[in-house]
Amino acid sequence: MIRLALKPGREGSVLRRHPWVFSGAIASAKGDGSDGRAEVVDAAGRPIALGAYSPQSQIVARLWSFDGRSPDLHLFRERFEAAGRLRKDVLPAETTGFRAVNSEGDLCPGVLVDVFGEVVVMELLTEGTESWREDLEVATREIFSPQKLVVRESGVERDRGSRVSAKSAGFEPVLFFENGLRFFADVSSGQKTGFYLDQRENRSRLRSLARGKMVLDLFSYSGAFSVAALAGGARRAVDVDSSESALALSREHRRANGFPVDDTDFVRADVFEDLRRRAAAHESWDVVVCDPPAFAKKRGDLRRAARGYQDVNRIAMSLVRPGGWLLTCSCSGLLPANLFQKIVFSASIEAGAAFTIVARQGAGADHPVSIDCPEGEYLKGLWLRRAG
Ligand code: SAH
Repeated sequence: MIRLALKPGREGSVLRRHPWVFSGAIASAKGDGSDGRAEVVDAAGRPIALGAYSPQSQIVARLWSFDGRSPDLHLFRERFEAAGRLRKDVLPAETTGFRAVNSEGDLCPGVLVDVFGEVVVMELLTEGTESWREDLEVATREIFSPQKLVVRESGVERDRGSRVSAKSAGFEPVLFFENGLRFFADVSSGQKTGFYLDQRENRSRLRSLARGKMVLDLFSYSGAFSVAALAGGARRAVDVDSSESALALSREHRRANGFPVDDTDFVRADVFEDLRRRAAAHESWDVVVCDPPAFAKKRGDLRRAARGYQDVNRIAMSLVRPGGWLLTCSCSGLLPANLFQKIVFSASIEAGAAFTIVARQGAGADHPVSIDCPEGEYLKGLWLRRAG
């Protein structure tokens, strides 16, 4: 275990239980951090927290306890059990795909656990938690009893600032249910841990308003929004994505749920170009879903990202018929909700179209956010209805 002494006056956030310790706050380090454990002490040498040590990261320690408890198998078990109990209280029926452990939101910084039916995917997001892999695996098996456990390590890559590569081991679809609908998670090479579980609530709302409607799903990935819309009685749902493999999975999802598969409903294209074409053709849709990837991954991207969100929303808005709906989302954690709303407002001015905000819906309740670490909130969703 390494002992990290904070500079004088830098203990405040730790005393308020914020789980991140930045390298700039450290005065000195003593000991060996090879077991991934760090003890944080204040300038007077008093121990104040324990956590996972990631020497190459700007966030050099992510804190797991503030009461002297060591991050070990006992603590992992306890935290995973508590996380499991929360899910029992909040998950809808017929839902076997969910986020079981949400990093800081479940007091397990650097660890994600997603359940897809019988398969569990654990992602270790930091170098520190990577070195606890063995015990974290034991706790995962005990608490979530998977038939198969897949572990992904992205911590060291992330710490070095390099792109996290999807290690492709071929397509490994795993069946699970969401509100009774059948989906496949691509647990080997898919994006995130294989499925955008965080959008469950938005899919559910889409389903409840989709009857008889024409739905355009932008940045559709595996078409889960479209499947929810069709389940709600949508007349037609069209997916637009630049990834061929995402669209292939989207076809599988429609088949698996008993919906027809029509080639014209799967458009492989850059959304920006596709939207311009549709706008030029004066298309009009009952519902447009716009759920792009995070345009801002670091602070320096924010200005360009804001422009991207504004452009895509402006054109998307022009395609919504009067009285129709736009669900617009941003999963950039760096973009605050109020700024996103302003960007969307600017887009509506540019589009010359009036909208009202009918609902705000971010990630579902299986993605809890620690009140000590509001940075854990990233997904913003605005349900907008066009006047008329
Ligand atoms: N809405 C999806 C998740 C979207 S993830 C769901 O709920 O499952 C973002 C998707 O955008 C990815 O599938 C990626 O392939 C796609 N993408 C990123 N940039 C794009 C672009 N410029 N044009 C089209 N698709 C894009």
